[in-house]
Amino acid sequence: MTVQVGKNANAIDKIALDAPIFDPAAFRLTDEQAGIIARARELGQTVFAGRAAAYDRDAKFPVENYADLHRAGLLGISIPKEHGGLGAEYQTYALAAAEIGRYCGATALTWNMHVCSTLWSGPLADDLDMDTATRAEHEHRRAIHYKRIVEKGAVYSQPFSEGGAAAAGGVAFGTEAKPVKGGWIVNGKKIFASLSGHADYYGVLCTEIAEGEKATRRNTLYLAIPAKAEGVSVVGDWDPLGMRGTVSRTLLFKDVLVEEDAALMPRGVYFQAALRWPHMFLTLSPTYMGLAQAAYDFTVRYLRGEVPGTPPVKRRMYPTKQITVAQMQIKLEQIKAIWFQAVTEARANPTKEQVLRAYAAQYSVMEGANELATLAIRTCGGQAMLKSLPLERIYRDSRCGSLMLPWTAELCLDRIGREALYETGETDD
Ligand SMILES: Cc1cc2nc3c(=O)[nH]c(=O)nc-3n(C[C@H](O)[C@H](O)[C@H](O)COP(=O)(O)OP(=O)(O)OC[C@H]3O[C@@H](n4cnc5c(N)ncnc54)[C@H](O)[C@@H]3O)c2cc1C
Repeated sequence: MTVQVGKNANAIDKIALDAPIFDPAAFRLTDEQAGIIARARELGQTVFAGRAAAYDRDAKFPVENYADLHRAGLLGISIPKEHGGLGAEYQTYALAAAEIGRYCGATALTWNMHVCSTLWSGPLADDLDMDTATRAEHEHRRAIHYKRIVEKGAVYSQPFSEGGAAAAGGVAFGTEAKPVKGGWIVNGKKIFASLSGHADYYGVLCTEIAEGEKATRRNTLYLAIPAKAEGVSVVGDWDPLGMRGTVSRTLLFKDVLVEEDAALMPRGVYFQAALRWPHMFLTLSPTYMGLAQAAYDFTVRYLRGEVPGTPPVKRRMYPTKQITVAQMQIKLEQIKAIWFQAVTEARANPTKEQVLRAYAAQYSVMEGANELATLAIRTCGGQAMLKSLPLERIYRDSRCGSLMLPWTAELCLDRIGREALYETGETDD
């Protein structure tokens, strides 16, 4: 499947396309899956890779990439076909996102926030319990969101971090939605809100609290608040180490009136999803799977003297470099194997073994991508980390993976250790 994107329509003919990270035959993907993933890879390599340095340098949101994602149908990758999307389920989306991450980390990470609004309200919600009336209401509401995305190219973000314990799942979100006739009044603050100032809708996680009630995680709401709504503002600057194109500034909500149709999930369904569909929190990892592959690809090309824009000097004959490449290849295959298994078995009510594997996959990818980038810089050498080449950006972007709540590297270790040693409800008393 070939993507025809604006001025770059002929670019594919001129560029030797990279092989997929996951070969469709070896990993037993269907032709339909392979087609969607190839569409993402071609767009990433032929268009996004060339723009990535400028977005990173200026910490500027990849607006142009989003227009291309819309044209290629990829804003609706996980929207069900009957609503005009590509109908990709979890595994297909994850593999496509890894291909985008290979060429532009910031685009892949922000695209993930957008796609999750459709994946969580779509195939994931279909697996969860709702009575008939609630499901019908959800069907009506999600159709509104999907239409905006498919027809108008609307972009959704997913701000849940608040700087306290809520994003780690420990307590209820501090952003509050007070029920009023026809909707809610929302007040609160979200930090590190990727796509701020650029998304059309902010998919805000907040707690519904009626007058006199106490906040509880059971009453979490997932609301798509229009960026232009009165009372919504974006504040603060954005000048981070890596993932600079995500533009993750602070969002403020002051007495924002939000109508009922803004609900991306019915009452109680987000809480149910967090308990019964834990792989929903693994969706930040595909970006970093792509970065891991990018660090390896760069190293092989560089040591062979084949990186465009560098002199054709070969460095591959040194045994130390061959050993490092061997170590990188082994690490990459380990990451790919556990991650592929984890994204393949994402489903409702996973077994304990599958949940532990999902944490282990997240940890392996997030830490592993940066380990590979570190090895790449060490073995390629000083000229390879100049800003004119992508490796130093891959290194900085990959450092951010372990910090992403709720499954940071530290929290994955914490959960694996505890959940491996204790069954639910078990204590030492
Ligand atoms: C590039 C980038 C983009 C982002 N985009 C988004 C976005 O779009 N939406 C969004 O909601 N968030 C986003 N985040 C935020 C991210 O998910 C985290 O919320 C943020 O990095 C947390 O930073 P903090 O310093 O407040 O973490 P803290 O809460 O201070 O935690 C610091 C560390 O302590 C550990 N820790 C935290 N809680 C516990 C606990 N209960 N037990 C044990 N250890 C704990 C964790 O390892 C954590 O990394 C983004 C972050 C980055 C770096």
